[in-house]
Amino acid sequence: MSILVVGSVAYDTVETPFGRAEKVLGGSASFFAIAASFFAPVSLVGVVGEDFGDKQMRVFRERGIDIQGLERAAGKTFHWQGKYSYDLNSRDTICTDLNVFEFFKPRIPAAYRGCEHVFLGNIDPVLQRDVLDQVEKPKLVACDTMNFWIAGKPEELRQTLARVDVLLINDAEARQLSGEWNVVKAARAIRALGPRTLLIKKGEHGVLMFSDAGSFAAPAYPLEDVFDPTGAGDTFAGGFVGYLASAAEAGEETLRRAAVMGSTLASFCVEAFSLDRLVTLTRREIDERFRLFKRLTHFEAI
Ligand code: AMP
Repeated sequence: MSILVVGSVAYDTVETPFGRAEKVLGGSASFFAIAASFFAPVSLVGVVGEDFGDKQMRVFRERGIDIQGLERAAGKTFHWQGKYSYDLNSRDTICTDLNVFEFFKPRIPAAYRGCEHVFLGNIDPVLQRDVLDQVEKPKLVACDTMNFWIAGKPEELRQTLARVDVLLINDAEARQLSGEWNVVKAARAIRALGPRTLLIKKGEHGVLMFSDAGSFAAPAYPLEDVFDPTGAGDTFAGGFVGYLASAAEAGEETLRRAAVMGSTLASFCVEAFSLDRLVTLTRREIDERFRLFKRLTHFEAI
């Protein structure tokens, strides 16, 4: 089943204790689309500037992603710069040059409107709702947001969340959105706003999922070398929604497998800068690591 993703396509400049990458392909929609493309056909809606290269376009084409909805506008591509210290769970944003992204108004091509799965990347909640007004009747709407929108447009965000099935945010955002310090209480409050399924991401400490059936925890895969965490959250979302789109139903067991699949994809993302590891990834490698996750988390009852 097909997936529509709407979000940022960016040039990222990233500094970690292990190296620096200058103006490499990034953006929430890019990470999501590449990860989800291992499971289902993906259509991308976003905007880039005149400086966006053929090399970057090829990354999407080679994974079979439909980029008919990737608009090219006059000006420069969105540029984000971030810096990590040895604690890779926290980062400083050095600069956010919105460029053409400032005037982004998602236009969903007619061919995409019947998509069954929709991922609303981290953009203005008003635009997220605008996307939902343009699609027909998706089976599942997943959504990301950030502190900027939680603080800046709380009412608009609430209206969007009322139309969302799955929300993916980090623990700090969950606290900010709910006003609750305890994540279990935060989850209850947020689910009451609309999303039946809530995934709270905790970086290298994994993810907590709250759904009708209760809660589920998936760890992050213990890696010896974590090189660059940028995009791990969006890659998680791509693996999660991608897996759901490939499954016949979305019951609790499927949701749990999807959470582990999200963690599996994210574990590859952080092994290299930008999308470098994801573009060389194979389905075989994904399945092998998914199996290792099962071993990592399995234990016998007493
Ligand atoms: P993540 O590490 O999953 O939070 O995603 C990082 C990606 O988000 C980077 O590739 C950035 O280009 C992109 N990004 C950073 N800030 C913003 C923003 N304000 N709006 C949209 N995308 C952003």
